[in-house]
Amino acid sequence: MHELSIAISMIDQISEESANRGGLDVQAVHMRLGVFAGVDKNALLFAYSLACEGTPLQGSRLVIETVPLLVYCPVCRHECTPPSVYQIYCPECFTPTPEILTGREMEVALLEVAV
Ligand SMILES: [Zn+2]
Repeated sequence: MHELSIAISMIDQISEESANRGGLDVQAVHMRLGVFAGVDKNALLFAYSLACEGTPLQGSRLVIETVPLLVYCPVCRHECTPPSVYQIYCPECFTPTPEILTGREMEVALLEVAV
């Protein structure tokens, strides 16, 4: 499962950061996930809860903020939302565009830490 390896590497990275900062009590991990990142949100949530077991992040929550897909149309010269992630073209002039502005994000936005 693709999402499980993502969850594991994310947890590794956060655990390391936590250790570097003297052992944080992480309550929740907020992340930004683009709809075009190729990651299933629910699968990632599930993978996260599994992968947390036995790590310093056990019991923490993963909060996913979905980032919509936004592309730039070189013909209309504006930002637009394509019909779907499988049809990356401008909805007004139907020009396919490779210029993806947002939607590929997969990053930890912030850590919620108990004080
Ligand atoms: Zn256009």
